[in-house]
Amino acid sequence: VAATVLIACPDTGDLVPTGVRADLLPDLPAINHLEACAGCGNDHDWTRDESVVTTATD
Ligand SMILES: [Zn+2]
Repeated sequence: VAATVLIACPDTGDLVPTGVRADLLPDLPAINHLEACAGCGNDHDWTRDESVVTTATD
């Protein structure tokens, strides 16, 4: 499993997946959009600076 990018949901505070692979993070724009947050179901804008990269585990 590849490492992925998470953000802290601003509504629940839980880390939720953005669906972005960690190795693609440097190519993203500074501000990104997440639709249908896994934590609350809303859409969020998020920045690279606030994102969290998971460690891939097998
Ligand atoms: Zn959310």
